[in-house]
Amino acid sequence: IWGSVCDKFCREFGQNAYDTWVSHLIFSSFEGGVVSLAAPTRFVRDYIQSHYATRLNDFFKADLVGMHELVIRLDSSLQSKHREEQAESKADAQSGDSAVVTSANFEGSALDQRYTFDSFVVGKSNELAYAAAKRIAESDEIAFNPLFIHGGVGLGKTHLMHAIAHEIRRKAPQKKVVYVSAEKFMLEFIAALRFKDTHAFKQKFRNVDILMVDDVQFIANKDSTQEEFFHTFNALVDNRCQLIITADRSPTELEGIEERIVSRLGWGLVADIHPTDYELRLGILQSKAEANDKVIVPQDVLEFLAKRITSNVRHLEGALTRVMAFAELVGRPITMEMTRNVLQDLIRANDRKVTIDEIQRTVADYFSIRLSELLSDRRARNIARPRQFAMYLCKQLTNRSLPEIGRKFGGRDHTTVMHAVRKVEELKEQDSQIEDDIGRLMRQLEG
Ligand code: ADP
Ligand code: MG
Repeated sequence: IWGSVCDKFCREFGQNAYDTWVSHLIFSSFEGGVVSLAAPTRFVRDYIQSHYATRLNDFFKADLVGMHELVIRLDSSLQSKHREEQAESKADAQSGDSAVVTSANFEGSALDQRYTFDSFVVGKSNELAYAAAKRIAESDEIAFNPLFIHGGVGLGKTHLMHAIAHEIRRKAPQKKVVYVSAEKFMLEFIAALRFKDTHAFKQKFRNVDILMVDDVQFIANKDSTQEEFFHTFNALVDNRCQLIITADRSPTELEGIEERIVSRLGWGLVADIHPTDYELRLGILQSKAEANDKVIVPQDVLEFLAKRITSNVRHLEGALTRVMAFAELVGRPITMEMTRNVLQDLIRANDRKVTIDEIQRTVADYFSIRLSELLSDRRARNIARPRQFAMYLCKQLTNRSLPEIGRKFGGRDHTTVMHAVRKVEELKEQDSQIEDDIGRLMRQLEG
């Protein structure tokens, strides 16, 4: 009976869906009209329950007289078996069978040679992420899976990932490490979907020991691929592949990802990188300055930069590089005066801390509406749009968290703010008028 149900399933949903999901089920019993199946993991069970249970039920009914209910149980003892099987096929893949697509076919993204653990300066804001990354690079055991690192732009997420890859390549070259941007991962994945070949796509990762996917927020809203995409993650975790994921926000803030996937992402270790503090900025500047032996950067200049350029490490580095390049070019030693001159524009932008109140007032003025209207519940577009713009600007120009911003907008929920940010990002791309408006508001606010 089970065999015939599986056949029907394959005919209707394809071999792929069968291999991915139903093949993991075991038929356990048929008693008192109840068919009972066992699934190795909660994830497999839930997925089948929500996607295929109704049809499976139909298939059984057609063959089994008196069948009236289908139950899918969780049987974790199957899990070790499940793993062994996967380990076997992993071994198969490595035995060089030419029919098997191996990860060698998957092009990872390039690594930056400068992004090593040695060149990474550790401070309070990034020590957890750093320690976790180090642990993965140095240990053979899987201590947590996945490792999810999140933090704002330019705070060192990519740097840490590359550092892990470098370290493992050096210490354990037999291990297969793949680093990809989420974008690239997704493009490959979409191609696989197009050729109805997601199974082969997964096979590609079968003998990968460590897979790193950078900037997954990129995938979050791409609904159609997201589901299968994260299922692939899941299969990899079951396959004892160490996963490292980064995003610009926490798992729970990743919009448009199903709850159970979010919780799965959080199963491992979630490490956030906070904005840098003064000491860390100074430390980073010092290490970068020391790495360059052509020019000497005076301490007061380093301190000045650490104090004034607070946005992110990329800007900080950019500023230092600019000053050093200038000094080298004109052949004079670096001074405070030179620094101020060279960095005029940057310093001004970092000089003023824009507040939420200021943004709200400026936006209300700009659109000629009242501040009270902006903060009200009114949904009329001429009010709601400016409100979304204001939320977007708060996210861009202040360090406030989404919940904080929501509270300042009449006690709105952080998801509302997130939605506004997304919306404006979308509108900006589609409508050059809106892009102009935002640009003008930004300049006005940043002075
Ligand atoms: P993210 O991926 O989080 O946007 P990156 O890893 O690309 O940020 O970092 C931006 C730049 O800042 C890189 O050049 C990186 O080397 C540097 N950087 C960030 N954090 C640190 C740090 N703690 N120590 C040294 N350099 C850092
Ligand atoms: Mg990055």
